[in-house]
Amino acid sequence: MQGGAMAEEAADELTLLAERHLVQPWPMSGSIGAEARGRIEGGEGIYVTDAAGRRLIDGPAGMWCVNAGHRRRELAEVMAAQAMELSYNSPWYTTNAPAALLSGRLAGHAPDGLDHVFYTTGGSSAVETALRFMQFANNVKGRGEKKLIVSRQGAYHGSTYLSASLNGRPRDQDWMDGAGEQVVKLTCPNPFRRPEGVAAVAFCDYLVAEFKDVIETVGAERIGAFVAEPVMASGGVIVPPDGYLRRIRELCRQNDILFIADEVVTAFGRLGHVFASQEVFGLDPDMITFAKGVTSGYFPLGGVMIAGRLLEELRRSNHSEAMFAHGLTYSSHPVGCAVALKNLDLLEDGLLEHARSISGHFQSSLKALEELPLVGEVRGMGLMACVECVADRVSNNPLTLDLEVGKRIDNHCQELGLLVRPLINMCVMSPPLTISTSQIDDMAAILRRGIELTMDDLVREGLWRG
Ligand code: PLP
Repeated sequence: MQGGAMAEEAADELTLLAERHLVQPWPMSGSIGAEARGRIEGGEGIYVTDAAGRRLIDGPAGMWCVNAGHRRRELAEVMAAQAMELSYNSPWYTTNAPAALLSGRLAGHAPDGLDHVFYTTGGSSAVETALRFMQFANNVKGRGEKKLIVSRQGAYHGSTYLSASLNGRPRDQDWMDGAGEQVVKLTCPNPFRRPEGVAAVAFCDYLVAEFKDVIETVGAERIGAFVAEPVMASGGVIVPPDGYLRRIRELCRQNDILFIADEVVTAFGRLGHVFASQEVFGLDPDMITFAKGVTSGYFPLGGVMIAGRLLEELRRSNHSEAMFAHGLTYSSHPVGCAVALKNLDLLEDGLLEHARSISGHFQSSLKALEELPLVGEVRGMGLMACVECVADRVSNNPLTLDLEVGKRIDNHCQELGLLVRPLINMCVMSPPLTISTSQIDDMAAILRRGIELTMDDLVREGLWRG
């Protein structure tokens, strides 16, 4: 058999194996455990290569995570070296050098006072840890009633039981159980889809008043934490109105409610800084959750930055029995922490600066797509953006079809050399931070063509008036 034919046969076998035996994340019940998904074979810089040999711009950087780009030798080598030095140690009884070094480096980047870190295996476990810490701290302080968690519509915080209970995107919870009785959800701070009758200039006041109302109705003595992504990512890159986060933070402070900034997406350069809370939004959260970009996706690691003051309070209570009975086998994993240290070197040695300098071009190139009649809004910040499609510009109704518009655009873009992250009627873009000006131009040109082709299809199929 020829080399090419052999490779093709092997590839078919892989597709079949995955289809027969792999349960993929987020499946529909009609195809669960029996789904053939496109296979990615390799990556280099901002590109990935699929099983058909096509080179595609990785528009979403994997899942908002491959911040330093694919196939970075420095990152691969440091992982191999650490695995040869010490591949694992039990965090129950011991610690290791990379975890200690990384905690010091992260404390140096975090807002003042957030000088401790608890490592997890990813974002969901980071959010879960922050929430369990809040519950534990309130138990130790003898205020067992103060446990409710305030989240927002449109939010995404994870796939573990409690973190998923905070999610507020349409469809996420329709068929799943959760701890809904422990959660209060506020209005999504999306200026483009604000409640009817609320003027743009009054939207921030509306959101703040709503939170105040909840505190008054439910009682501050029952609310333990407010959790928010500074820029909502999977909900469609929602940039909140100016001053919103700071005003909410102030209400939290006044009512002794912990403010947890979920920076699983916004940290590690996505908004041009290691953490965005302070540097971009002037915020000083009580805890910051992170994951994804901390290792540029090379190793599953996450964590929670915790204000030392909260730990000091617990130490002072010196309770004889209270134990924070929470930890993961892979907390403080030496290989994960080693690659995170190297990744931090890359960010500090120019990547953050590059991300900051190129984000204006990224945003304006995508903003130009608002010229297309299918596009209702392009919004974003730093190196994250969302193109939202609408049925028409008067109603701004989201254009959701049986074959979702985002998926149609993604299909065309893949043919043209770009991977898109489709979300119902939206396309989300968050490329590796290493992207250059000309690569941004390529990405925007392909996306424009993909949208134009989709508009042609919709008109031809009688699904859209144009
Ligand atoms: N928080 C935010 C803001 C996220 O976007 C995600 C994942 O996309 C998570 C938490 C969950 O992270 P993970 O998938 O690593 O568990």
